[in-house]
Amino acid sequence: MSNLFAALRAAFPSDLDSTAIETDTGLAYSWRDLERGTAMIANLLASLQLEEGARIAVQVEKSVEAVMLYLATLQAGYVFLPLNTAYQKAEIEYFVGNAEPAVVVCSPANFGWVSKIAFQAGTRHVFTLGDERNGSLLERAAKHADDFETAARAADDLAAILYTSGTTGRSKGAMLTHGNLLANAQTLKDYWGWREGDVLIHALPIFHVHGLFVALHGALLNGSKMIWFAKFDPKKTIERFHDATIFMGVPTLYVRMLAESRLNPVAARNMRLFVSGSAPLLLETFAAWKERTGHTILERYGMSETVMLTSNPYDEKLGERRGGTVGFPLPGVQLRVRDDQGNDVPTGEIGGIQVQGPGVFKGYWRMPEKTQEEFTADGFFRTGDVGKVDEHGYVTIVGRSKDLIISGGYNVYPAEIEGYINELPGVAESAVVGVPHPDFGEVGVVIVVPRAGAQVDADQLIATLKSQLANFKIPKRCFVMQELPRNTMGKVQKNVLREQHKALFA
Ligand code: ATP
Ligand code: MG
Repeated sequence: MSNLFAALRAAFPSDLDSTAIETDTGLAYSWRDLERGTAMIANLLASLQLEEGARIAVQVEKSVEAVMLYLATLQAGYVFLPLNTAYQKAEIEYFVGNAEPAVVVCSPANFGWVSKIAFQAGTRHVFTLGDERNGSLLERAAKHADDFETAARAADDLAAILYTSGTTGRSKGAMLTHGNLLANAQTLKDYWGWREGDVLIHALPIFHVHGLFVALHGALLNGSKMIWFAKFDPKKTIERFHDATIFMGVPTLYVRMLAESRLNPVAARNMRLFVSGSAPLLLETFAAWKERTGHTILERYGMSETVMLTSNPYDEKLGERRGGTVGFPLPGVQLRVRDDQGNDVPTGEIGGIQVQGPGVFKGYWRMPEKTQEEFTADGFFRTGDVGKVDEHGYVTIVGRSKDLIISGGYNVYPAEIEGYINELPGVAESAVVGVPHPDFGEVGVVIVVPRAGAQVDADQLIATLKSQLANFKIPKRCFVMQELPRNTMGKVQKNVLREQHKALFA
């Protein structure tokens, strides 16, 4: 039985009446509640007589019932397709048109426009699911039995299609199998030392790899209780550190908690592990967290197409957790760095990151050519990330190949320049992007966010950089903004910045 659900279910604790999830609205769900709620939805899905491989597309607010819907989709053997709650009409049209889901589940408030799009795309069933245990999905599911025999699935069968975040362009549907997801969850369970008594604070959205797979699977596969936040709240999260042992977050969540005066070593005393990923964690945040809590954040790296790829070590015997790096390739993952000609680069040099391993996806949904392009002849996936591996094996992500700037024939790595700029007085953070230029082809432009209360002089900043770096690396213009455009996963949207400044030198 290779159905991922079976493995998760097998890890439930023997006392099914103990608490599985405690919500920020004061509800407690036992493991039995989770199992029964899941089974009822699985029975409802099964009663619809969907074809094999049917997609269940879901755009709902974060709730425990949404987790049950995910688990029910696995248990009934269908394919889960979560969608960002921020998506509006044009986006839903694209995703629903592209994925052709048999079932769409949306928030009650969106039923009007979502159902219209769905029915037009040929979807046969549209249900609603609200975040107060309301909506037609649960009403219908309540009429079904509360036990369900898990559908047999092979490791290679599809479990989910995850659309990528769309940071670098249009989102692509990554097809992930039961085997991909289970292998990664098991690896992380060992590598991060999940143990009895662990309690996870779950404060991430559940439509991306981080919240849906890394965090949720981690807790379920360990039979661990979750403290559940539908929306992240820095104060309340810190208050719950006392009752938890593990927290996972994107870098912005750490930054927001650092702004809270109550964050101190006593507050974090019970915690065992803080994990960060999805976007680069600034060294400054890494250092400040250590100073304020006594804990060293463990940074890891992964993507929708591969699940987790690398991680800083949990076990000290394997090495220290090194800020600014994403650690070592996880057991089973092969990672190499190659130049544009396809040759391995020497240790410590920058190139394109390619990977192979049990988590690597089956391909992009309905994009066979794109899939073929992104795999090498010997079966490695081109991540699109640029990075390096040092002599001890630590991997550092330098940026994305699409963000690389080629100025007058020279490669400029935005992360390198940002690293220098972030160290300058008064600078909180920065983003360097390339824009078209008649002489150089492309030049860098930097957008700087000042620290609270500080002033940054744009001309002065560029003058300072000129004394530190080669001329071809110096951004030609500097703009001061109060914040950088970010998507829900805290990723800086460089395409938005590029678009804003594309006509600067035209
Ligand atoms: P799209 O592929 O649609 O442009 P996306 O790549 O942002 O969007 P995801 O699959 O959600 O979509 O994100 C994976 C990417 O996130 C990685 O390729 C990498 O660039 C970035 N990332 C993840 N973890 C880290 C990390 N710890 N440090 C730096 N970057 C990271
Ligand atoms: Mg990507």
